[in-house]
Amino acid sequence: MRFPAVLYSTIIQYLAKQHLAGNKRFPLVLMLEPTLRCNLDCIGCGRIAEYHEKRCPDLTLEECLESVDECGAPIVSVCGGEPLIYQPVDQLIQELYQRKKYVYLCTNAMFLDRFWDRIPPHKRLCLSIHLDGMEEGHDWAVNKPGVFKKVNAVLQEAKKRGYRVATNTTLFSGSNPQEIINMMEYLQEIGVDGMLISGAYPQEGVKGEASFKEREQMESIFQEIFGKNGAVKKYRLDNSPLYIEFLQGLREIACSPWGSPNRTVQGWKAPCYVLNDGYYKTFQELMEKTDWDSLGPGKDPRCTACKIHSGFETTISFGQNCSLKDYVRMIGWNLFS
Ligand code: SF4
Repeated sequence: MRFPAVLYSTIIQYLAKQHLAGNKRFPLVLMLEPTLRCNLDCIGCGRIAEYHEKRCPDLTLEECLESVDECGAPIVSVCGGEPLIYQPVDQLIQELYQRKKYVYLCTNAMFLDRFWDRIPPHKRLCLSIHLDGMEEGHDWAVNKPGVFKKVNAVLQEAKKRGYRVATNTTLFSGSNPQEIINMMEYLQEIGVDGMLISGAYPQEGVKGEASFKEREQMESIFQEIFGKNGAVKKYRLDNSPLYIEFLQGLREIACSPWGSPNRTVQGWKAPCYVLNDGYYKTFQELMEKTDWDSLGPGKDPRCTACKIHSGFETTISFGQNCSLKDYVRMIGWNLFS
């Protein structure tokens, strides 16, 4: 199976409840950012661009758990900032297990070797490690030499210690396709459990200027990576085959921004992970006051070149935009890849 059985059972039970309740829009993954503090200064980090002049205190553990309970999403992605800088991160994760959540700990891995005892392997935990290429590309993306070497060592140690380990890669318009193929080859060799690849959101889009040209440039990079060498079948990708086709511009998918709501230190960010139209105090306000129908490619100009995972992969998880053939492919991918 592509993902752990506990993740499938958590999601299936949750989706069944939502469908029985007749809910049309509901969250699947809570992107929880308990801190904005980070030990790195990555060039593509939207959070650095957004908050570089603003200091915001961390969320308290209680605020985190209130948000988790109010939102109700079965998967919690603990991100940031660097979540391993958040002092009660281990308590937070324990509380999430108790609530039967599946946890993705999204980390740059620089401090991970200090946490082997505090955050041991667990059936509800996946380490999601940031890696934007091999040594040259990753150290460029994180703006610091030596980071790739450290990540590489920690990633291999995490595998030896029995963690489920996935990587999280963002491609930019200047990314080198061959380097990404080399990275996937290398990750496959060392036995990572999954690789998640996504397109960076063009920061020009925030100003309403992202164009079809930018979208096409990004699609051609994805075509070079996925179109030629059977990469979709060859590597343990966490991206669904339908999303990979979307990345290459081979199919359209609607965006479901409500599927991955983002709780930040400033509140519930509206309307999605990358756009910022303001913050709401509660998840309920976010859901009720956001004009969801006005968002997505072809509706909001800021969405034109967007390919981010959190917006589009959730649509596939909800089973929307899927034909019968797509369902069959997705079942095959989940069960037999
Ligand atoms: S397409 Fe969706 S995720 Fe992307 S910017 Fe628009 S609303 Fe946000």
